[in-house]
Amino acid sequence: MLYVNGKWKHALSGKKLTVTNPATKENIAEVASGGVEDTQEAIDAAAAAFPNWRNKTGKERGDYLRRAAHILRENENVLAKTITEEMGKPLHESKGEIQLAIDYLDWYAEEAKRVYGDMLPASHEDKRLMVMKQPVGVVAAVTPWNFPVAMITRKIAPALAAGCPVVVKPASATPLSAMEVIKAFDQAAFPKGVVNLIIGKASKVVGEMTANPNVRKLTFTGSTEVGKELIRQSADTVKKISMELGGHAPFLVFEDADLDKAIECAIASKFRNAGQTCICTNRIYVHESISRQFAEKLSAKVIDMKIGDGLEEGVLIGPLIDADAVEKTAEHVRDAVKHGGTILCGGNEATTGLDGYFYEPTIIMNANEKMKIAYEETFGPVAPIFTFTSDEEAIRKANDTDYGLAAYVFTENINRMYHVMEQLEYGIVGINDPAPTVAQSPFGGWKQSGLGREGGKYGMEEYLEEKYISIQLKK
Ligand code: NAP
Repeated sequence: MLYVNGKWKHALSGKKLTVTNPATKENIAEVASGGVEDTQEAIDAAAAAFPNWRNKTGKERGDYLRRAAHILRENENVLAKTITEEMGKPLHESKGEIQLAIDYLDWYAEEAKRVYGDMLPASHEDKRLMVMKQPVGVVAAVTPWNFPVAMITRKIAPALAAGCPVVVKPASATPLSAMEVIKAFDQAAFPKGVVNLIIGKASKVVGEMTANPNVRKLTFTGSTEVGKELIRQSADTVKKISMELGGHAPFLVFEDADLDKAIECAIASKFRNAGQTCICTNRIYVHESISRQFAEKLSAKVIDMKIGDGLEEGVLIGPLIDADAVEKTAEHVRDAVKHGGTILCGGNEATTGLDGYFYEPTIIMNANEKMKIAYEETFGPVAPIFTFTSDEEAIRKANDTDYGLAAYVFTENINRMYHVMEQLEYGIVGINDPAPTVAQSPFGGWKQSGLGREGGKYGMEEYLEEKYISIQLKK
């Protein structure tokens, strides 16, 4: 169902889309599929709700967010099952995602009270200069399927805290998780029109969002290819935009690293969500002197990872999202082998007894820069291992990509830690840490990984405009 102006509704056209479980290929639901007119209705409702929402105090807006967080927490088990059923990640990961989603709501419930301005020193004694921050207006939020809950709250929590109403367009693969999130906002009794949900065909819904002058801000998370297109589409109405795009994370293991820890962290970073995470490791660079030992130990652990339906106890690798994702992963593996790669484990579609989109966790040795996997985002459970012989070579190779989202460094040497970290062209650097994301930190990429930041005080700025005021007093 769509959620517009405080009511659940069908699409005006009556169209529906089918939701599939990627672990079984079974159809699990049919939901309303909105179009241009539904989107216009939602944008109009949001625009009408703006003046009252903006005029509430930060504390009042924070109280609404806190209520939504509480309802999501109460609904955790249902929501976790919904995430796993429609996009495949193991249930414990779904619960982890919900906790992150709630953290954003809790954090911005507090931050709503802290939208400060500035007083500036004047250049004339009869003048007083100030800067105030005000909400930008109606926000359109477009989200992906790989974190179908947290990507919504990471956008709408700061937007709502800042005083902006929102229209959300979730990925077509994961509308059920989005509906569960919006249910929490409905039950938290947000004023009508402040939160709206339009599920539907991307070209129609997002096309209207980018064209409509009442949308003042577009915040998008998804692929770099689509992000570039939306930047172009937003140009005509000169929208404020945030882009959280693709990544190609390097994972650097130096010869002084704690090897066992680096291996545990490589598994956590690479194979979480079956490799379908924007900040997940894409390229592992290991110092030549320890590369064989690293690869063998890593493969010995990866080979034991249980593959299957994410609802089943003990499963660590769920299905990929669809048949195209399996084909892209398989193509990257074939291409790597063609260019001299050696498969240490995996390398095939997985047999699980289920009719789903499964691919084995795979380790490839002797990786090199000619392979597609070295420069294209795989979005699957494949870890290529490259080698290096000096710090400068490792840094140069790590930065040799159009992306700049996350990078990981494993070393016990503090001088090397600083030297390498300062030269990496990435928005996020995890040092001996495979999971750096928290609600209070800035999340976002350099280069073609995006524009702007989400999370923390940085994320709030994306939904605020500055107004400079100069007052001349009578003498
Ligand atoms: P995607 O294909 O770009 O889709 C993302 C969203 O955009 C979905 O809601 C999708 O709707 C919509 N969309 C697709 N094509 C569109 C078009 N031509 N015009 C307007 N909207 C369009 O990305 P995805 O496959 O869902 O997600 C995976 C990508 O997201 C990866 O590249 C990953 O790295 C990136 N990602 C980045 C971050 C970050 O924070 N930087 C976080 C998570 C994921 P439909 O589903 O209806 O097509």
